[in-house]
Amino acid sequence: MDASSFHPPERTLMGPGPSDVHPRIREAMARPTIGHLDPVFVGMMEEVKDLLRYAFRTENQLTFPVSAPGSAGMEMCFVNLVEPGDKVIVCKNGVFGTRMQENVERIGATPIPVEDDWGAPVDTAKAARALEEHPEAKILAFVHAETSTGAASDAAELCRLAREHKCLTIVDTVTSLGGIPVEVDEWGADAVYSGTQKCLSCVPGLSPVSFGPRAVETVKNRDAPVQSWFLDLNLVLGYWSGEGGKQRTYHHTAPINPLYGLHEALVILHEEGLEAAWARHRQMHEALKAGIEAMGLGFFVTPEARLPQLNAVTIPAGVDEAAVRARLLEQYNLEIGAGLGPMAGKIWRIGLMGHSANPTNVLNCLGALEAVLADMGAEITTGRAVSAAMAQLGQ
Ligand SMILES: *Cc1c(COP(=O)(O)O)cnc(C)c1O
Repeated sequence: MDASSFHPPERTLMGPGPSDVHPRIREAMARPTIGHLDPVFVGMMEEVKDLLRYAFRTENQLTFPVSAPGSAGMEMCFVNLVEPGDKVIVCKNGVFGTRMQENVERIGATPIPVEDDWGAPVDTAKAARALEEHPEAKILAFVHAETSTGAASDAAELCRLAREHKCLTIVDTVTSLGGIPVEVDEWGADAVYSGTQKCLSCVPGLSPVSFGPRAVETVKNRDAPVQSWFLDLNLVLGYWSGEGGKQRTYHHTAPINPLYGLHEALVILHEEGLEAAWARHRQMHEALKAGIEAMGLGFFVTPEARLPQLNAVTIPAGVDEAAVRARLLEQYNLEIGAGLGPMAGKIWRIGLMGHSANPTNVLNCLGALEAVLADMGAEITTGRAVSAAMAQLGQ
């Protein structure tokens, strides 16, 4: 075997995640690995939990990063709160709602799907009807920011409806956290999970979660033990809580250096301020939109439901969309995303997440996309996109 060190190219990541990792986070992750029960490391973990409470806007004690990607955060919420035989209303308007349903089925519980078109937000009236028709439902689960389509749903209203019907909520905030307002306490959300590689601009592989008092009660009062050993909150807590001077116990070895990275990502978010980060995502979206529209391209999602951090752009007729992405990657070191499932071949997904949401990226992306499309003979308006974006940015 002939093996040598791997040196990835420097890319600009403007897909559905991972986003560009901030250089400060890369540097933080290169620091010395220490023991995961080392008091210095434990001190950092406490700060990570405080910073996550800041990001989620919650006082929930039980707020910490799961040592695995966003999908594990999803699974942690479902396996701890749902028991065999339970009924769970699952709102489905894209890939991730469908995965929620699979989680419910694998637990041996019954999903009650509430379906909306891909690209549309969850219809709160339909969710309300499902809650009325199924008073026995224990949980309402939905995705706040559907990364597969770029649609945002009304989390405040969905959580309000669920509370009105004495239903718990599981909310996917993987793509929303740090990009648009996530208000865990104001919403009264019971269990939320997120990811690190979207608007937090950290490396993938960790999943911040937060559980409110009703969710904790539910987990404590379970009949059956949680079927997953690794994701059983009762066990994980022995390691992550250690509150009131309780001794932390070994559960698994925490991913030490990635946690340095998450700590740095959250410090960066705190320095900028949540509101400022939300405003920046919005501004960069407005600039990208000005350029996309100046080129004569459109958006898949209606303006009210559009996520600033995930732009679903319609593909001009007759264009080989995969060839466009390949050329962007080869010639411009720029990654944008393809459509998933039924959206394949219909949209590109241009991410403006976290550190990736900056003016340079917006202008580079528009310039590169225009150059490639024009060269491929696509019917677009040329020479206007970059200046339209610059005007929007006030440059
Ligand atoms: C990315 C994503 C996930 C899954 O996160 P992974 O880190 O890829 O496991 C779940 N939900 C949504 C909405 C996502 O965008």
